[in-house]
Amino acid sequence: QARSQGTGSYQIFEHKMSVDGKQHLQLETDLRRALERQEFVLHYQPLVSLKTGKLIGLEALIRWQHPQKDLLFPDEFMSIAKETGLIIPMGQWVIREACHQLKRLQDQFGNNLELIMGVNLSSRQFSQPDLVEQIQEIILESGIDPQNLRLEISESVVMKEVDETIALLQQLKALNVRLSIDDFGTGFSSLSSLNRFPVDTLKIDRSFISQMEADGEGENLVVVQTIITLAHVLKLAVIAEGVETLKQVEQLRSLGCEFAQGFYFLRPVPADLAIAFIESDPRW
Ligand code: C2E
Ligand code: MG
Ligand code: MG
Ligand code: MG
Repeated sequence: QARSQGTGSYQIFEHKMSVDGKQHLQLETDLRRALERQEFVLHYQPLVSLKTGKLIGLEALIRWQHPQKDLLFPDEFMSIAKETGLIIPMGQWVIREACHQLKRLQDQFGNNLELIMGVNLSSRQFSQPDLVEQIQEIILESGIDPQNLRLEISESVVMKEVDETIALLQQLKALNVRLSIDDFGTGFSSLSSLNRFPVDTLKIDRSFISQMEADGEGENLVVVQTIITLAHVLKLAVIAEGVETLKQVEQLRSLGCEFAQGFYFLRPVPADLAIAFIESDPRW
């Protein structure tokens, strides 16, 4: 194909490929070291009630403090972590760290602060045979109330093997944790299976929220409205992701959405800033 043509443009292409290949390999090597050297950190983003304005929880989001680079975000290393399987120990570290942080927050702020900690699970983690045991162990070791832990699983993952997924979700549910379907609206749920999932919450994908405003015909508004209605019919809580403007807050409120998360309230921040945010909020 391209190789046999021997054109100048191919050489440029080849050069670019090998640089990418090297960078990829370097990143993989660095990633393997990152776990041992504890270069990962969790940032936390508040979730608020649109009714009361109160903080209701935090979502833990992984960041990588690479020694030679700026802070790296999941889109820069998650795919390699998944390819290499490093997501498994990394994900376990995330759950453990988030649960210990939750415990520290509850010790600091007491039970008046009804804080739910959201933790993401990727598909690779979700198909680990001992996932349930691992999470149970972390719950026991950290001493948290499992009701304050919410596991977030992307809709695309949930919908892959419906029967297996339901069985696994039931085992997780038996630990008394909360379960939510993340990025809802992007994964083509079949409605008939949706009500079989033992989940508590739907998180409306950011893409729908960001399109709500610039919406001449009101189509995206109708999609959001439909998801909210669906959630309520199924007795699920509903959280809007990626809320960036006051207009969106008002729209969501008028559509009856209870909870939201987004840059409008606060970006994901390191633990000390999340704590300052909680302290500064007189309403909890
Ligand atoms: P997600 O679980 O849907 O997390 C929400 C993402 O939206 C986060 O990106 C958050 O920073 C971003 N976000 C929140 N509010 C806004 C907003 O108002 N505007 C915009 N433009 N973005 C907003 P982040 O932290 O880069 O994470 C991306 C994805 O990577 C997450 O999507 C999740 O699927 C995955 N991820 C992050 N941390 C972890 C982790 O610890 N474990 C696993 N398995 N996956 C993770
Ligand atoms: Mg999430
Ligand atoms: Mg999400
Ligand atoms: Mg998302």
